[in-house]
Amino acid sequence: MTTQDTAILGGGALGLTLAWRLAQAGERVVVFEREGEAGGLAAGFRIGTAGEQGPWLEKFYHHLFATDSDAIALIGELGLGAKLTWRTPNSSMLIGGKPYRLDSDPRSILSLAPLPLLDRLRLGAGGAALKFLPSPGPLASSTAAGWLSRWMGPRAYETIWKPMLVGKFGERADDIAMPWMWARAHYRTLRLGYLLGGFQQIYEALVAGIEARGGVVRLGVEAQAIHPEGQGLRITSALGDETYARVISTLPTRVTCRLAPDLPADYRARYDWGEAFGAHCLILALDRPLLPEQIYWLAIGDAGYPFLNAIEHTNFIGPEEYGGRRLVYFGNYIPMNHPVLRETPEQALERYLPGIQRLNPAFTRDWITQMWGFAAPWAQPIVTREYANHIPPHETPIPNLYVANMFQVYPQDRGQNYSIRLANRLAQRLLAD
Ligand SMILES: Cc1cc2nc3c(=O)[nH]c(=O)nc-3n(C[C@H](O)[C@H](O)[C@H](O)COP(=O)(O)OP(=O)(O)OC[C@H]3O[C@@H](n4cnc5c(N)ncnc54)[C@H](O)[C@@H]3O)c2cc1C
Repeated sequence: MTTQDTAILGGGALGLTLAWRLAQAGERVVVFEREGEAGGLAAGFRIGTAGEQGPWLEKFYHHLFATDSDAIALIGELGLGAKLTWRTPNSSMLIGGKPYRLDSDPRSILSLAPLPLLDRLRLGAGGAALKFLPSPGPLASSTAAGWLSRWMGPRAYETIWKPMLVGKFGERADDIAMPWMWARAHYRTLRLGYLLGGFQQIYEALVAGIEARGGVVRLGVEAQAIHPEGQGLRITSALGDETYARVISTLPTRVTCRLAPDLPADYRARYDWGEAFGAHCLILALDRPLLPEQIYWLAIGDAGYPFLNAIEHTNFIGPEEYGGRRLVYFGNYIPMNHPVLRETPEQALERYLPGIQRLNPAFTRDWITQMWGFAAPWAQPIVTREYANHIPPHETPIPNLYVANMFQVYPQDRGQNYSIRLANRLAQRLLAD
């Protein structure tokens, strides 16, 4: 291995886009990816039955928003643009046992029967204010809980926002920063995009493109340690020790801090900081639809459900794409040490059955034709008001060691688009240097 090479740790959206940009510019890159496939949190799996190749399906539900310009551009660049489809599926919330359409369309807000008319008007006006406020600066010192209950009213907060915040952030719900909520309202669109055949095609195409330009993508190889060595950096993995001229870690900053013991104490004090939740999804393939009214996204506003949302993917992308299967995700965000993250799909199903039957009393186990379960750590940063002060720059105190990861995406919620954007911008900077 020559010391002119760049090592990129992590083969998700960020690491692969960065590797692709550097490889396009003629640099030799080596990507280390711990998992056996590319794509990180956006990775998919083939859902065909034995002997059938089948399309990819994301392990965790994924779509794009119309504002995801960097992801849309990359899809086009990779020759996949014709497969990108845009639809406006039904997004609803379960309130008092009934699903109500709830999205940023003013008509859905104005007809939200569980709230009195005055509260609906406040909810709509608050949403419009967030859409038009050009920057989150004035909201920097507010929590989402404080701002939303003050400006949209306590009833709207208790009915809509609190279940959403508690579902996603658990005990930390009251601490979440308002700029993060501003970004959701500001950038999200009614129209949602999906790459027919699965987003995994982006990551497969990136791997092929990197390798065609002389780069190497090592799947199933975990980076175990990073140490400075001469002008470069030594990476330890199961393949032994290798030295690189430059290392860019796309792992969460806290993981990079563990791998690089030479990062100094003052750096750690500021950036080895903050919490994240893991994600868990149970996916069921059914022989018939589950949710009423062709609902794609059902946020659970009622107490007592063992999952945060039920997402019937085939009410967005039709079952004909999946051999007639109806595909439903049940999602959760949970602390990374929680035993649920280690549950088998069968164990998760046992816990979820009463909730699924509450959603559709006709549901029985024999509707299920296949099931899968997935869990991932470091899936959702806990974006408190202090969060922004703990986002590191790309450069670290160790020469030629850079961090670039989805934990630097703020105030936007993490998403493929923002990891791709961050990679595009960092590549431009590195190449200009
Ligand atoms: C439940 C859920 C729903 C989501 N929904 C959407 C959505 O609808 N739309 C959307 O665009 N985005 C969505 N996202 C977010 C999106 O998946 C991420 O923002 C994006 O994939 C992050 O890419 P990344 O490369 O920055 O990070 P990651 O995907 O986390 O990549 C980091 C990579 O590093 C690897 N790694 C970790 N440790 C090591 C090591 N020591 N050595 C080598 N490799 C290592 C990991 O295996 C991983 O592949 C969702 C995420 C979740 C969890």
